[in-house]
Amino acid sequence: MTLGVEGSSLNRGVRPHESPTPGDSAASEPAEQVLRGIGVSPGIAIGPVMVLDRRGLRLPPRRVAPEAVPGEIARLEAALAAAAAEGAEAEAEARSRLGRQYADILAAHAAMIQDPQLKADAHARIERLQISAEHAVIEVLEAHASRLENLSDSHLAARAADVRDIEARIVAQLAGGRPASFQDELETPSLVLTHDLTPSDAAQLDPTRVLGFATEAGGRASHTAIVAAALEIPAVVGLGPALDHARSTRLAIVDGEQGVVILDPSPETLARHRAAAEERTARYRTLSAETGLPATTVDDVEIGLYANIEFIDEAAASRKWGAAGVGLFRTEFLYLRSPAPPSEDEQFAAYAEAVQTQEGRPVVIRTLDLGADKLAPHLGVDAGVEANPALGLRSLRFSLRRPELFRTQLRAILRASALGDVRVLLPLVTTLNELRQARAILDEVAAELRAEGRPLREALPLGLMVEVPAAAIMADRFAKEVDFFSIGTNDLIQYALAVDRTNETVADLYSAADPAVLRLIAGVVEAASAQGIPCGVCGSMGGELLFTILLLGLGVRELSMPPHQLPEVRRLIRGVRLEQARAVAAEALRLDTAAEVVALLESALRPAETAAAAPAG
Ligand code: PEP
Ligand code: MG
Repeated sequence: MTLGVEGSSLNRGVRPHESPTPGDSAASEPAEQVLRGIGVSPGIAIGPVMVLDRRGLRLPPRRVAPEAVPGEIARLEAALAAAAAEGAEAEAEARSRLGRQYADILAAHAAMIQDPQLKADAHARIERLQISAEHAVIEVLEAHASRLENLSDSHLAARAADVRDIEARIVAQLAGGRPASFQDELETPSLVLTHDLTPSDAAQLDPTRVLGFATEAGGRASHTAIVAAALEIPAVVGLGPALDHARSTRLAIVDGEQGVVILDPSPETLARHRAAAEERTARYRTLSAETGLPATTVDDVEIGLYANIEFIDEAAASRKWGAAGVGLFRTEFLYLRSPAPPSEDEQFAAYAEAVQTQEGRPVVIRTLDLGADKLAPHLGVDAGVEANPALGLRSLRFSLRRPELFRTQLRAILRASALGDVRVLLPLVTTLNELRQARAILDEVAAELRAEGRPLREALPLGLMVEVPAAAIMADRFAKEVDFFSIGTNDLIQYALAVDRTNETVADLYSAADPAVLRLIAGVVEAASAQGIPCGVCGSMGGELLFTILLLGLGVRELSMPPHQLPEVRRLIRGVRLEQARAVAAEALRLDTAAEVVALLESALRPAETAAAAPAG
C-alpha cells in the first residue's frame, strides 16, 4: 500500500495520496441506485444533477463544456489557496484558544489541503474528464475517504471524517462568488436534488432550467409539493438521506409518478423511463381531446370540476384542461414570490386577470394563508419564530392580527369582484367567532369602497374552508353563516391525525383514507346539504383518482385540483355510476383502517377506469 498511512501521526493518516492514475473507479460507469420517496408532481424528468446540500452548498452538474476547463482549473487553484489560508487561520486560533491537541488536528487538515498530490489529481481529472472543480475535488477525496474507511485499523478508518471535512471546506470555497440563485448557474436544464426546498424557493423555480427536483425532506401535502404540481415540474419528496449518494451522479431520473429517483440509470432503465415519458405525453394528447366533454356520471349527474391555482399563468392551464372555473386561488403565493407585500393595485391586477381569463366562470379567491411552511420573512413569518408553526399564528389568524394587510387584500378582491363571478374563501377557520370577525371586516371594507363610489359585486358569496377538525365538528353551525364550504383535506388530515403534512418521517401515517377523516368529511357534506349550501373538496384528495368515487358517493359534487389533473378525473367520472359510488362510500364508512379503505377503493377504481376508457357511444 502506498497510502501514506504508516506511522501514527494524524497528518500522515489523512493524506490524499494514491490517486496517481486519474481514470480509476470514479471515471468508470457508476452503478445505478434507486431512491424511493413520495411522488408529488407527476411526469418523468431526466437530466444532469445539481446537488444543494444541507448547508446550502451547491454542487453543479458534473460535466463542463471543453472550453470551460481552463476556468475550472483556475477555480480549483484559487479555492485550494483560499481553503489553505482559512485552515491556517483556524489552526492559529485553535492554538491560542483551545490548545495544542485541537490545533494539531487543524494543522493536519491544512497540510492535506496543500498536498501537491491532491492538486495534481484534481487538476488531471478536470482536464481528462471535463468535469467541474467541485466534482474533481470530491472524487479524489471520496476515493481516499472510502479507502480509509475500509482499513481494519479503526483509528485510521475514523480519519475518513477528516477527509470529508476538508472536502467540505474546499467545496465551500468553490461555491463562493457564484450567482446568488442556483438556477442562474445551470448552463443546461438540470435536475435539482436538495435536502429541502421551501414553498417560496419552489415558487421561484424556472421550469425551463429546473427539469425536476427531489428533496430529502417533505411530505405528500407539503406546499412545496403543491407548487411543484402547479409548475408541472416532476418532483419526489421525502427521500430521507440521499444527497451523499447523489454527489457524484452524472445523470438521474426523477419519476414523479412512481415516487422514485434513479441515480446513474443503466441504459435499460433509461430506455424504459424515456418510453414511459413518451407514453404519458401520448396519454395527455388523447385526454386533451376530451376536455370539451361534460364531467357527468353514467347516470347523468354533473360534477363541477375546478382548478386550484397558485400563479396567474395557471389560469390559462385551467382553461386548457376544461375547468369550470377556479375553485381555489392560493393568493399567498403573490406574497411569497415578491420581496415585499404586494400593494392593493398589484393584487387587484392579479385577481382581475384571473377573473378575466375565466370569462364569467366562478373564481374562488382564498384570503392570505401564510404561516406553517409558507414563510414570508418580510412579514415576520419566518422559520424558528414559533415552536409549532402549524398550530401557531397562521392563515386567517394571521390576517386578523394584521388587519392592515387583510383590509388591503379584501379591497383588492372586492374591486375585482365587479369584473366577474368572484367568491371569497376564508382559510383555517376554527371558531364561529373568527368567521364573524372576518365577515365584519369584509363588510366594513365593502362599505368603504361603496362610499368611494367603486363598483363591486353585491351579495358577494363568502365561503369557509373546512380544514380544522373543530370546524368540521361544528359544520352544522357554520353552514348557517356562510354561502359554501370547501374542504381543505390537506390540513384536515394533518390536524385530525396529528401528522405534520411536511414531515417525511411520519409520511406513512398521513392518509386521506383514514376512517376518521372519512367520517369528518361525511359529516361536513351532510351539514352542507342539510342547509342547502354547496360543498366542494379543494385539498389534494380532490384530484386523486383513488378517492373520486368515494367523494362522489359521500355527496361531494364539486372538486378542485391542479389543472393538469382535471382530464383524468373527468374521464373517470364519466365511467362512474352514482349508485355504485354511494355503495362504496357506505362500505368505506364501515371499515376500521386506512389499509382496508384503500383496498376497497382500489377494487372500485379498476372497473370504473375500464368503463371510462371505453369509447363514448
Ligand atoms: C388544504 O389544506 O387542503 C388546502 C387546500 O389548503 P393548503 O393546501 O393551501 O393548506
Ligand atoms: Mg390548508
